[in-house]
Amino acid sequence: MKRPTIRWKLTLWYAGVLAVVLTLFSGVVYFTMRHQLLGRIDQGLDEELADVLSEVDRAGDSAGMLKWLHRRFAHHEGFDFEITDAHGRRVFVNPRLVERGLSFAPASTAGSTRSSPAGSTSQDAEAPRLETRNVGSAGWRIVTVEARGPDGPLTVRVARSLASFEHEMRELLLTFLLVAPLTLLAAVGGGYVLADRALRPVQEMSRTARRITADRLHERIAVDNPHDELGTLAVTLNEMIERLERSFTEMQRFTADAAHELRTPLAVIRNEAEVALRSARSPEEYCRVLENLLEETDRLSTMADQLLFLCRQDAGLQPKANGSVPMAELLADVVSNMQLVAQDKRVVLSLQEDEPCLLTGDGRQLRRLFYNLLDNAIKYTSAGGRVSVTSRREADSLIVVVADTGIGIPVEHLPRIFDRFYRIDPARSDELDGAGLGLSICCSIVRGMGGKISVESAVGRGTKFTVRLELPEASETQPHGAGTV
Ligand code: ADP
Repeated sequence: MKRPTIRWKLTLWYAGVLAVVLTLFSGVVYFTMRHQLLGRIDQGLDEELADVLSEVDRAGDSAGMLKWLHRRFAHHEGFDFEITDAHGRRVFVNPRLVERGLSFAPASTAGSTRSSPAGSTSQDAEAPRLETRNVGSAGWRIVTVEARGPDGPLTVRVARSLASFEHEMRELLLTFLLVAPLTLLAAVGGGYVLADRALRPVQEMSRTARRITADRLHERIAVDNPHDELGTLAVTLNEMIERLERSFTEMQRFTADAAHELRTPLAVIRNEAEVALRSARSPEEYCRVLENLLEETDRLSTMADQLLFLCRQDAGLQPKANGSVPMAELLADVVSNMQLVAQDKRVVLSLQEDEPCLLTGDGRQLRRLFYNLLDNAIKYTSAGGRVSVTSRREADSLIVVVADTGIGIPVEHLPRIFDRFYRIDPARSDELDGAGLGLSICCSIVRGMGGKISVESAVGRGTKFTVRLELPEASETQPHGAGTV
């Protein structure tokens, strides 16, 4: 079954709540009105009863009582009452009741009892009994009281027709029954229109979002009021689209750069092979061509390896080795392995370690990080220069600094130095083998381990890379030789 839309859900909820409120309101008004009107009728009855009783009380004998009752009440507009004696015989009855053939005589004793009516002077009057009864074709409110007449006990019954009261109540009920559904209908219509208006920005948002494809990532959702609920949603979606656009552009640039970088060695290989095949060559020449081809394929495979590493790292596919790495040993090993390269360039390479410590992470990645940094440091330092590796503990971190006295990096390049395929000027070094991926790999490794890498440099004076790696909690000084690298 198709689920109702939010618009309909809101409307139905609204209508449901309104229906409950209307029912409660109508019920309260109806029963309050009923109670008040009935109270007023009862009050009138009390007053009439007090009047009648005062006449009964005052009379010296039966004849006098009847005379006075007749004189005062026989033609009175509002008074409908009858008086019966102890045998149930009618002593006095209002002529209007006789005309209409009504009698309250067989009064039941059921009904609520009330206190003596206000103003009653009869000492013998018992508490009046109040009841609602159908007499003839209409309902009547009747108050009955036993009183002592001049010639013995009497029963006085004063009544008031409930016809107009019931008519008023019926009218009120009818009004509610007519008005409530109409109000509800208007509320459903109004609620639907309001919900539609309130949700219109959502429709607009989904239309825009549907339009935004990979080639239209520059588009944004319109934000009328960034501070309301939908505005906040639109701003959040826009931020998400912006992030997507940024990573998409980065990915496109990365792919384009990678393709470009791969094309150069491939073109060299093709060119060398074509030239070699054009005519017969001496074995020495074939050897030279093959060496060139080997060099280019080396570059290609290094780059493929670097690209693969970065892609895996981005996708979180790089296997995570969380062993304990003794950093003193690792750094000593890397430095000693790079000594030959440094000596080749007549660069002095030194290592200075604070205290040995254990780091949680991947030993192979850490080696790759420091090999890359040292390789660059030696590469960009001319003969007679110095490259130093120092490590020290600072609070919960291990700080490793790779510093050189090389050519340095111009300040305008520093912010982009860790970008992929970013090279300053390949001609600055005598070797042209780098593709500008070394530092981005370093950055990726350090970030993957939750650390930080930064660079400081001055042209002509040297460069300093600082790697800050977090030490595991309760990391203690580790004796040499422990853990795996
Ligand atoms: P590559 O792998 O081509 O060396 P990197 O990402 O390692 O690329 O380095 C990017 C650029 O940063 C290099 O082209 C180089 O100019 C500059 N660079 C890196 N390390 C140093 C350094 N220690 N001294 C001077 N320049 C450096």
